[in-house]
Amino acid sequence: MIQETDAVVIGAGPVGLFQVFQLGLQGINAHLIDALPHAGGQCVELYGDKPIYDIPGIPVCTGRELAALLLKQIAPFKTQWHLNTLVSALTVQADGRLRVETTQGAQLLARTVFIAAGVGAFVPRTLKVEGIEPFVGSQVHYQRVPASVEVAGRHVVVHGGDEPAVALAVELAEQGAAARVSLLHRRDVFQAPDALLQRLQQLRDAQRLHVEAAQITGIETAGTRLTALLVVDPDGSTRPLALDLLVPVLGISPRLGPIADWGIAMDRKQLVVDTEAFRTSVPGIYAVGDINTYPGKRKLILCGFHEATLAAFGAAEALKGDKVALQYTTTSPRLHQLLGVAPAPSAAA
Ligand SMILES: Cc1cc2nc3c(=O)[nH]c(=O)nc-3n(C[C@H](O)[C@H](O)[C@H](O)COP(=O)(O)OP(=O)(O)OC[C@H]3O[C@@H](n4cnc5c(N)ncnc54)[C@H](O)[C@@H]3O)c2cc1C
Repeated sequence: MIQETDAVVIGAGPVGLFQVFQLGLQGINAHLIDALPHAGGQCVELYGDKPIYDIPGIPVCTGRELAALLLKQIAPFKTQWHLNTLVSALTVQADGRLRVETTQGAQLLARTVFIAAGVGAFVPRTLKVEGIEPFVGSQVHYQRVPASVEVAGRHVVVHGGDEPAVALAVELAEQGAAARVSLLHRRDVFQAPDALLQRLQQLRDAQRLHVEAAQITGIETAGTRLTALLVVDPDGSTRPLALDLLVPVLGISPRLGPIADWGIAMDRKQLVVDTEAFRTSVPGIYAVGDINTYPGKRKLILCGFHEATLAAFGAAEALKGDKVALQYTTTSPRLHQLLGVAPAPSAAA
């Protein structure tokens, strides 16, 4: 089913989130799409716990705290979220509207699209093992076990050596539903905070979590089922590691992906925009944040916030076919209504 909408924002990084806020102030509710299962883009994915010092009015906050504040700021608006969702296609229709297609099968028909795709979609690093691909989505799940997948009574192998892999294996073992939980990594050395490593050790001591220090070289199948991984131990011997579910947690990396195929003018992998409203070469499509380029561009969050503000004004004028007057959030009754806040004291007097 195709959903019609005034606006789609691609990317829920800091700039995409602020784009939703600025559209909200213009009375435009947006669909917001991100490949990740959470909002925050680079701020959460690349430096969640590190401090940022150059957000105006916030002397210091972490990447994760900034994302949380931006989420709070957009709470008054009716945003339709599409997480874990990659935008795969964007095409212009005969009537000028924009058709947005996602990997989850959603189809949106939008009057405006805001590409806030940063350095690209954050997607899981995939396992390079011959023959594994057909099992992705059934027995192989990247990064996490989807809620719809039953782990009870099954042997779950988590593959990876960093904190997210250790955390997932520990969580599954502590839940106790799986018949067996294994943590597979090429070496018996894991990069994780001490407290997590201690929990891992306790579970190993209690035989509730099994570490397999080995490298995957192949798979074994029976009919349509993946039955085992073929792994090589440090002594060079190969053996099967039977399993029901495999969860590779090998990290996330940005991929520009399909954006380059959308027919929008680009310069060195960036979308070329004007600086009046951050319009791209395709009418109705705007680009804000790290994904765009123009003379003097700086890849900073506050620059993206400025771009999102002017893009929202530009889109509002295009949708309305008329000028949009500037209003202050401090004093405008209309903006207070949109924000769901009480009128300012002077307006109430
Ligand atoms: C280590 C580090 C420190 C930094 N420190 C600072 C700092 O102190 N101050 C500062 O101002 N800036 C800093 N930056 C830069 C800042 O993080 C970026 O400018 C900012 O994140 C850009 O925001 P964005 O919303 O444009 O893109 P991003 O944060 O990259 O978010 C883009 C989002 O779009 C999603 N996406 C992309 N393509 C698709 C698609 N096809 N479908 C679905 N989703 C898609 C991605 O998954 C991602 O979540 C830092 C960057 C790094 C790496």
